Amino acid sequence: MPTPTPETLVIIGSGPAGWSAATYAARAQLKPLVYEGAITEKNRMSGTLPLGQLALTSEVENYAGYPHGNLTGFLESALPASRREMMAPHAGEGVTGPELMELMRQQAVNFGTRVVTDDILKVDFSKRPFKLYPSEGGVVEAQCVIVATGASANWLGLPSEEHFKNRGVSACAVCDGALPRFRNKPLVVVGGGDSAVEEATYLAKFASKVHLVHRRESLRASKIMASRAHADPKIQIHFNSGLAEVLGDDSHGVSSVRLQSTTTPSQTTTLDVAGVFLAIGHTPNTEFLDGQLSLTPKKYIVWTQHFRTNTSVEGVFAAGDVADDYYRQAISAAGTGCMSALDAERWLAHG
Ligand code: NAP
Repeated sequence: MPTPTPETLVIIGSGPAGWSAATYAARAQLKPLVYEGAITEKNRMSGTLPLGQLALTSEVENYAGYPHGNLTGFLESALPASRREMMAPHAGEGVTGPELMELMRQQAVNFGTRVVTDDILKVDFSKRPFKLYPSEGGVVEAQCVIVATGASANWLGLPSEEHFKNRGVSACAVCDGALPRFRNKPLVVVGGGDSAVEEATYLAKFASKVHLVHRRESLRASKIMASRAHADPKIQIHFNSGLAEVLGDDSHGVSSVRLQSTTTPSQTTTLDVAGVFLAIGHTPNTEFLDGQLSLTPKKYIVWTQHFRTNTSVEGVFAAGDVADDYYRQAISAAGTGCMSALDAERWLAHG
């Protein structure tokens, strides 16, 4: 059997960086192939399903170009019915994360991007063409690769947290918050950043009360987000506190949590809650690279040239949160996605 011709450009990842890279690359006639990730329980649990972290959020208020307004008609005209069925019905005002990601995906597809719904499990960047190994088997060769695999939610690592995952412990309020087990019940959110505040504010719509537990004496979240949490009568903030243990039983799931003071460790408090939501930051999805690209001490891919998306391997570029532990915004991820496609195009043209 003849060896298949290597792909010109493979993009691994399907968040804003991956789709922006694909749209630019497709318009540049590079015929990009996107591995968008597999739809598996493992990916659901680790937050690495197709369409990335934005697909796990609610309203997106700060992505330029989407002011408040009713997008129903636009979504119907822009997306095929089969993709709209995969999303919750349009909520009303502004754009939601899943809607934004479906629109980005569709835009890339409209220009000829091919999409495979599978994971790349390992890579061989030791020589060109590069080799990529999908989970469904076989090998894909590529002259050029853009890594845009994003980052995943962190867990505290408590045995009781692990024990009650899927039975009241979650790292995604938007995915799980509306489940009957959480409705009109008190809940806990752990963390002090924008994600924690966003999750607490979202959960407060369904819950009887939300306890926001943060290990410091003030929130890290941006001022506008923090003021929302302070103003919400359903949110009670517990500063200088950490989650020490999740309590419950196997048949009913979570029933309470034990908090421990971070300033006076002998002080503990028990709160009756039906759910625990972790919002304590993220880890970049770089494990599958197996050390073949230079990484920072926090395992983010290193951009090796100033204001370029080049990595330590020539012909491999990185975009979005997988290489950015500083801005980590949807719009900055989309921006570096665009940059990576332009960098790839120029590298393919001139070597
Ligand atoms: P983050 O800003 O890194 O905040 C993580 C929070 O978790 C911090 O408050 C941190 O505490 C706490 N934390 C970390 N490890 C912990 C542990 N082991 N135990 C207890 N607490 C722990 O992460 P993020 O909130 O996910 O936000 C990431 C980025 O996305 C940010 O740039 C943010 O602005 C952006 N974002 C924006 C929006 C929005 O604009 N709507 C929404 C979500 C996220 P310390 O404060 O003590 O470090």
